[in-house]
Amino acid sequence: MSNLIDKIDKTKKILENADGILIGAGAGLSTSAGLDYSGKRFENNFGDFIKKYHFTDMYTAGFYDFKTEEEKWAFWAKHMYVNDIGIEATELYKELLKLVKNKNYFVITTNVDDQFYKAGFDKEKVFSTQGSYKYIQCKNACHNKLYDASDLVKEMIKNTKDCKIPTELVPKCPVCGGKMEVNLRIDANFVQDDNWYMQNRKYEEFVEKNKEKKVVLLELGVGFNTPGIIRIPFEQMTYQNPNWKLIRINKDASATFLDIQNRSILFENDIKEIVDALNEK
Ligand SMILES: [Zn+2]
Repeated sequence: MSNLIDKIDKTKKILENADGILIGAGAGLSTSAGLDYSGKRFENNFGDFIKKYHFTDMYTAGFYDFKTEEEKWAFWAKHMYVNDIGIEATELYKELLKLVKNKNYFVITTNVDDQFYKAGFDKEKVFSTQGSYKYIQCKNACHNKLYDASDLVKEMIKNTKDCKIPTELVPKCPVCGGKMEVNLRIDANFVQDDNWYMQNRKYEEFVEKNKEKKVVLLELGVGFNTPGIIRIPFEQMTYQNPNWKLIRINKDASATFLDIQNRSILFENDIKEIVDALNEK
């Protein structure tokens, strides 16, 4: 316990003295925020789908190959609504903003639930690499534009019967007339629009501009699904920049691959517990 208090005190000081904070966030952050993909939230919202398809959780259900567009969109509308379109900012994301809002910060995240935007993070300072539950795109990626599906999704949910939406609500690509898809990086047809490229550039600029400064990499709930986007680069950047430090909070696996012991603080705790403690005066 005293070890934990020491680590929190040390982390507070490092954050206070930082010239810049780079947040890297993965699925574990949203899970800790209460947006888990199984259990009560899943059972309460997907009862009909569980009966029909024997789904066990939202994550694996997302890989199901629906036979018709009407069935696919009935499921996905619900999924997009429950995890994004229909919910507000969670407490944890708001607490996280308190830690960085008066600092020079940037966020890179693989999360697609838009919680950073909802919580009030500056959208100019957030790079969401893997898409969003709020947008749809051409399934064939025939053009690189995203479409806000908030209203459509609500219409779909209102009109879902027997786990199907009416055919007239099935979205069609306005350019090629083909099928549409949620804007998630599930295959090579993932659409990266102008905003995606702009935020990618801003991320690279943040890293470049702060190279010589005291930067804290605050890595939250990043596992091994796509370690090449945040987890591995964060270790490499810490290794390469003597002024940079890594704070990693990961309940399941906090150990680093590279030898950066003297420049890292690792927590195997619930993220909310640590963020709350860091916000305590
Ligand atoms: Zn198209």
